[in-house]
Amino acid sequence: MTSKFWEGECCEYCGGPIAEKRVNLSRKIKNKYVLIERVPAGVCTECGTRYYTANVLKTVEETVRGRRKAKREMVVPVYSL
Ligand SMILES: [Zn+2]
Repeated sequence: MTSKFWEGECCEYCGGPIAEKRVNLSRKIKNKYVLIERVPAGVCTECGTRYYTANVLKTVEETVRGRRKAKREMVVPVYSL
């Protein structure tokens, strides 16, 4: 994972510069939300749109599908109207 990956890239929505940041990503797996911390993403510094590389998304998929053990578990409150 190179931190230079997003250098020179522009946001496809607003044209703003993209910077690499670590973000928290939540995914819904079998009616359960899981949180993946410190996911490397390209974040538009103007509008905040996040971009993920194919590699990162693959790792996220493998992670949430149980190939890796969760670092810790926490209860996520879910509200329904
Ligand atoms: Zn943008």
